[in-house]
Amino acid sequence: MQKILIVNPPSFAVKPINEVEYVYMAPYVLASYLKRRGIDVQIFDFVEGRPSTNGHDNSRIEGVLRCGNFNSELISKHVYYIGKKERFYTDFLRAYKPTEVWISNLFTYNWQGPRLVAQLTREFNPLINIKFGGAYATLCPDHAREHIDCDEIIESKPQDPIKFENIHIGFYKYIPQTFPILTSIGCPFKCAWCAVPRLEGTEMIQKDPLAVVDDIEEKYYYGVKRFRFIDSNILHNYERHLKIILTEVLKRKIKVSFCSYGGVNPLLVTPDKLELMAEARFQDVQLPLESCNDETLKQNNRPVTTNAWVKAVRQFKRIKGFSISTYILCGIPGQTIRDIYNSINFALEHGVDPVPLFFTPIPATIYEDNTRKLEEYHPNLFPYASNNMKVKDLEQLLVTYYKRGDYAPDYIQGERYLSSPAISERTDI
Ligand code: SF4
Repeated sequence: MQKILIVNPPSFAVKPINEVEYVYMAPYVLASYLKRRGIDVQIFDFVEGRPSTNGHDNSRIEGVLRCGNFNSELISKHVYYIGKKERFYTDFLRAYKPTEVWISNLFTYNWQGPRLVAQLTREFNPLINIKFGGAYATLCPDHAREHIDCDEIIESKPQDPIKFENIHIGFYKYIPQTFPILTSIGCPFKCAWCAVPRLEGTEMIQKDPLAVVDDIEEKYYYGVKRFRFIDSNILHNYERHLKIILTEVLKRKIKVSFCSYGGVNPLLVTPDKLELMAEARFQDVQLPLESCNDETLKQNNRPVTTNAWVKAVRQFKRIKGFSISTYILCGIPGQTIRDIYNSINFALEHGVDPVPLFFTPIPATIYEDNTRKLEEYHPNLFPYASNNMKVKDLEQLLVTYYKRGDYAPDYIQGERYLSSPAISERTDI
């Protein structure tokens, strides 16, 4: 009998650890899809339950990697293993006895996580069929084929309808404080640094808005009080989508609040939309500026100018109840620390909280860079730091603007790390 275990692998992370990364959707969506089709399926999530690096036994230092600009600053950072200990996984395999293990992985620079899961699975029972998918497998299939010991690599199709499957909340052991929700896929724009057009396509497909509300209502009665839209373009086709969702949420008296992950396009902001969003408790809005330099935006094919962003901010400010933050892209090749602070100050002057978003060159974009190992492109290693954009200065941005406010500089300076191994092959089981 077919028994599928879906695995969300551990992270190999550089501090600070972003807790938002630990409420994953893709493995849960897939498991829900299979369960509704009568398949025996379970999830093993290595990082569920807000793991941290504060001394819990599920975190350990696993290696050291050099930051960008190493030759000049000699700065390295620890790489932490974040996740349940490996033996809990093998215990789970022993108890559940899956015939197949499907591993899903998001970040390309975290490829050691799925490699470890595949190794553990093979060692436990070489007859278990291993499939591997997710954004890393889709963006870097050759790298995955070379490094992940699996039977099949699954490259996801841009507009895979499974992505709209409602998550079966029972798969989460802890009810997420903020529940991720995806109501549309695709983005018609093609910003140079972004993988969304490659992963989701440029044609937008939206889920039936009433089905979205049914899903929100169901989760609300399980205790979820806040939802984060992770759509890339939530205001697209507003009259037939978000307007229906928010109006119906109000009509059904579902007392939840909403926030966005960055998909509020300043070009589509209008007063009527904002009034309804405020009424429906759409409270925390990410209105991405990325840079206040129009030349940089233009060079990167970004359709939103700084003027358009400012106009959108003004409209938000006329309505009470919104907290607005904005991503500021930090660490792109050729950038200077002065450029970054110009953008941060620009956001602050307009009453918007800047959130530094550290750059990583995503494969299949024009920034693809194969000169280093994938793991060396972890955004918190600042791979493109230079003497005009020093690691120390970028680290200071993290200290100042890291949202939880409890992050202290965490790096190692010195020659001895010149010869340090990168991430080790394996540690405890
Ligand atoms: S608008 Fe946003 S999602 Fe679309 S390509 Fe640009 S950065 Fe990516």
